[in-house]
Amino acid sequence: MQEEKTTPGADAPEAPEVPGMPETAEEPEQQESTALAHDRELACQNCAAPLAYMEGENVITCPYCGTTTMLAGYDNIVKIDGHSMLPIEVNENDAISTLITWLSKGFHRSKSYVAAAKLSSVRGLMLPYWIVKSSASTSWHGKKKRTKSTGTGDNKRTQTWYEPVSGRFDEDFTWPEYARENPDEFWGIANIQPGKKSIFPDWGKFWLRLGGSRESSNRDMLDGKIPFDIEAVKNAGMNENLVNGQITQERAEANARGNIKSHQAKKAESKTDVITDVDTTVNVNKVDLVYVPMWELKYSIDGKQYSALVDGSKKELLSAEYPVSKKAKITLFDIFLGIPAIIAGIIGFGNGVGPAKIAMFVLAGLMLAYSLKKGLGSKN
Ligand SMILES: [Zn+2]
Repeated sequence: MQEEKTTPGADAPEAPEVPGMPETAEEPEQQESTALAHDRELACQNCAAPLAYMEGENVITCPYCGTTTMLAGYDNIVKIDGHSMLPIEVNENDAISTLITWLSKGFHRSKSYVAAAKLSSVRGLMLPYWIVKSSASTSWHGKKKRTKSTGTGDNKRTQTWYEPVSGRFDEDFTWPEYARENPDEFWGIANIQPGKKSIFPDWGKFWLRLGGSRESSNRDMLDGKIPFDIEAVKNAGMNENLVNGQITQERAEANARGNIKSHQAKKAESKTDVITDVDTTVNVNKVDLVYVPMWELKYSIDGKQYSALVDGSKKELLSAEYPVSKKAKITLFDIFLGIPAIIAGIIGFGNGVGPAKIAMFVLAGLMLAYSLKKGLGSKN
């Protein structure tokens, strides 16, 4: 933790005396509460406004005119031309309703949880991402398991052998690299990379954990992109959390190459039984700094805290934690213990009293007890 040596309020930007500057309508103190602490200052390359930033930040966007400056080393200040943003189409209420709709749909979730949910915070964020437009070409070699039955009767044998296989696949990406070091400052923002786990079910003590999670898909991160518009950011009330970047374009590109290679390698593993060699070539076409609007929501159900991240451009849930409904647990329990119980029952009745029959009574008993306990306890 770094100690703030400045007096409270000293880092709140004063309205600079430059032509074309909009009147600051909001209270400067407001910036203190939610914004991150700042300890450095730089003049905006465009409007000369003082830009407060933190040590380690090197992609700094002016909250007055929207110009982005990149500190590319000592005495090397670069104004980034043509940085952009995804349009802000989702307001605070839309973000809340997106979460509510999502929470009330699907096998693992429940409408009755929505009534029990308490919203504890909603925060509009403009987060800097380096979008690495690239195409990846992957070639792989591996082995595929083959089996063959030979002979008949007692001489029947199953032969197993491995056959060499290989293949090749291509994929285009608008790969998002978050431009900050610590992904935990805001909830869920690192989960939007393709293949990253983005939906986290809370099963409590329940052990039959099936489904309920999801990975982020490879979506077009440049879809609908517009030139950075500081007025739109101000209108949405997101300028309080217009976040500076800490990772330079060069580093982001290198990170993206590495992450794309891992992503492709993981994908190659699903192609055959044993992968012996994967080689991915990543061609980077363009690297854009894009501000992505998002809503971070914190809520609680039955005293437990959960978080969610809603897309600020589309009414879409990007990432979330949620409790699995009791109804889903009962259904899973009944399906996965009920079927073995029935099978055990059929075998059991055929052979008189035996271990299978006892197993049936134990399983059916457990099933009934669990369903009754949970079902009567709550209507979830
Ligand atoms: Zn400026």
